[in-house]
Amino acid sequence: MSITAFGALRSHGAGTLRAGHADETVTIAGWVDTRRDHGGVAFLDLRDRSGIVQVVADPEASDALAAAHRVRPEWVVRVTGTVRMRPEGMRNDKLDTGDIEVAATSIEVLAEAQTPPFPVEDRIEVSEELRLTHRYVDLRRPHMAEILQLRSRATSVIRRTMEEHGFLDVETPILTKATPEGARDFLVPSRLQPGESYALPQSPQLFKQLLMVAGVERYYQIARCFRDENLRADRQPEFTQLDVELSFGDQEDVIGITEQVLAAVWRATLGVEVETPFQRLTYASAMERFGSDKPDLRIEGLELATLDEVFADTEVGVFKGVLGDGGSVVALALPGGGEMTRREFDELVEWAKRRGAKGLAWGVVEADGGLRSPLSKFMSEAEIAGVLSSTGAGPGDAVFFGAGETTFARELMGALRGHLAAERDLIGDGFAFCWVVDAPMFEPVVDRGEAVGTTGWTPVHHPFTAPTPKWIDRFEESPGEALSNAYDVVCNGYELGGGSIRIHDRDVQARVFRFLGISDEVAEERFGFLLRGLAHGAPPHGGIALGLDRLVMLLADANNIRDVIAFPKTQSGACLLTDAPAAYDPVALRDVGLRLLPEATRD
Ligand code: ASP
Repeated sequence: MSITAFGALRSHGAGTLRAGHADETVTIAGWVDTRRDHGGVAFLDLRDRSGIVQVVADPEASDALAAAHRVRPEWVVRVTGTVRMRPEGMRNDKLDTGDIEVAATSIEVLAEAQTPPFPVEDRIEVSEELRLTHRYVDLRRPHMAEILQLRSRATSVIRRTMEEHGFLDVETPILTKATPEGARDFLVPSRLQPGESYALPQSPQLFKQLLMVAGVERYYQIARCFRDENLRADRQPEFTQLDVELSFGDQEDVIGITEQVLAAVWRATLGVEVETPFQRLTYASAMERFGSDKPDLRIEGLELATLDEVFADTEVGVFKGVLGDGGSVVALALPGGGEMTRREFDELVEWAKRRGAKGLAWGVVEADGGLRSPLSKFMSEAEIAGVLSSTGAGPGDAVFFGAGETTFARELMGALRGHLAAERDLIGDGFAFCWVVDAPMFEPVVDRGEAVGTTGWTPVHHPFTAPTPKWIDRFEESPGEALSNAYDVVCNGYELGGGSIRIHDRDVQARVFRFLGISDEVAEERFGFLLRGLAHGAPPHGGIALGLDRLVMLLADANNIRDVIAFPKTQSGACLLTDAPAAYDPVALRDVGLRLLPEATRD
């Protein structure tokens, strides 16, 4: 049996017709995009996935003309007719099919349609709520349809590249046991074992490690992950990642394959040659220079300077206080910023306060090299000279100072860097990739609803990440300083993915659990299967996961993750199309042995 290119009901795609088809009889089918009815003659723009073509019905084909009078936008029709050149002067450059039209001999209505809730075109003024409720109409809009196609091209090139490098596509379970990635789990109660529940995987992490123990050596999967966290603009409770693991390799292997995949995706989807290898920054230098562990390197210059030494003996009260408490003074020079008005400076101070800063000091470098600033009367000449040399500021430039706990001050000034660059159009074009390596192993616990550990420290990546060789024997001694063998890949200020070399030694893994306050019993109960696996001949291994949704966002230049997912959820985790989540079915609840708490007692 032969498979036709466009389906048995039609001979061509609407958008594929060209002058070369003139005089051919064709059958096309799709949606009525627009209809212009002049009584004696009617024009339909017929749209299918391949594009749009104009159909003409005139009195010579009276049945077709009658049908054309009747149809409405978004009805599904099938048209048979002859391709003919449009008269000179009637050609439409905006359509790929604009040189021709189809003179209909028959128009058959395949399905009627209600008036669409919004027009099927790119520029519409309509709430996202309505778009998501009628997503099947929304996805017909050209831009949305293009994103779906772009995403499919990206996943196909990902698969091809992974397979060329010997990676096997292996599926891992969705109904499983908790895999900690720093979020809450989605739970699925079990009917066959009432009182017990599965967890949806936050990632396939433990399974991919066990696949390495199993001898798969090179694994990949385009995997769905589930994390129950408070949603932000670029987060979804379920998302997709390219998940990768390899054995008998090191960081260079993982970085190498990741760069190959990203370069192949950019080439195949955008025709852009991405330069490899990507620049590498240590976590410490990224924080120090850009105040972020995902710096946007499209912004040229605008690097932060740490001025702790410059102000070591200062009389500037705030700086003195902060440095005395072990904090830092971090500065950023803005070339040409001296032209800013007092009001613009005040607005930036307010901006900093909204981010939780006590304030934001600033100054302007004068022609003679002096600093005009509310603080300069407290600064010595040597300090001013130090500010200028550390920040590279010269006459006409502005200098901003953030002071406080070191990480806070750096992140504040890193955010200011992004804010100023966006406001003043200092963000370059294109794509700036980099790796951030040598991240800390642990960070102090902040309440993220996490169940891992109780010692005040939590893993920066996950508890299966190996320390760098230097720290393997002594990460417990200085947990705040210990570095991990982990790497994040960043593009234009977005973290595209991250991974690490794993602990493949059962004893080291047990020490990490113990350090995190996970007792041997709890470790056994939660991760016993991993520990047993590691005791059965685990090769050295490591891997990475890349967020596919974010990657497509970058490719599509979308500023909303929901635009790159066919059926996304809203910020409150609802699917407006299906109305999920839905109230419990009492029978289903009883089947799994659960009863709901009265609403008042839930928190
Ligand atoms: N499992 C990690 C994640 O989902 C990625 C990795 O370490 O490979 O973020």
